[in-house]
Amino acid sequence: MSRTGTDYRKEAMEKMVEKSQVIIASLPEHIASKIRICEKSGCWIFEGKDPSSNGYQRVRLYGIRFQAHRLIYEMITKEDIRGKELDHVCENRPCCNPWHMDPVTPKINSNRKYRRRKKAPTIEQLSNLIESDKNEN
Ligand SMILES: [Zn+2]
Repeated sequence: MSRTGTDYRKEAMEKMVEKSQVIIASLPEHIASKIRICEKSGCWIFEGKDPSSNGYQRVRLYGIRFQAHRLIYEMITKEDIRGKELDHVCENRPCCNPWHMDPVTPKINSNRKYRRRKKAPTIEQLSNLIESDKNEN
């Protein structure tokens, strides 16, 4: 019997889940145990008990409270993201999959939000958006 596109997709998804599980297992146990992999989107859903009012999950490490997606991003990529915001390119706030994040300046992050029509920009923000388009190109 020949393999179908569905078989290949299923296999690719299984590999993605397997690789994610290995990486997640390298995190501290109390963090790893709260992550559930969505097999459809590849999102790592952080199922914590301490979400902030804006929908981001939080987690403690050495008694310090962190935003889960930022802490996990830094632990896995070893990249210093101070002064940057992590844009969830999957647009799923509970997700903490570092490959679904793009570290960008706060200005670029808010410009992207307007593009996704999450919020209507003020005149000042609109002129920033126009300005940053000039700089990005
Ligand atoms: Zn995601």
